[in-house]
Amino acid sequence: MVINAMEKIMKDLFSEYEHKLQMKCTCESCKEDVLAMVLNKVQPKYVTNEEKVMYIKAGYVDKQEMTTLLVKLIECAKLVSDNPYCKTGKKAEVDQSSTV
Ligand SMILES: [Zn+2]
Repeated sequence: MVINAMEKIMKDLFSEYEHKLQMKCTCESCKEDVLAMVLNKVQPKYVTNEEKVMYIKAGYVDKQEMTTLLVKLIECAKLVSDNPYCKTGKKAEVDQSSTV
């Protein structure tokens, strides 16, 4: 079993800071968009079991790297919030320009 440790770390970070990100839409679709976007920006760290994820995560705690991850997360949350791809967001977009 191959797991990207960053995925778990980012999910945890996201749920921890979700209320501070002030996203316009926080539906599952938008949250997944943020996660996918931020995970594309960070180097993946593959491990073979859940326990190893915790070791990787422990390595990030109280480090400059965690701040870097958080900054990336905030950037992505803002991008998705400004241009949501979910139905709610699309609707607002269609209202603005009906020719798409
Ligand atoms: Zn949404």
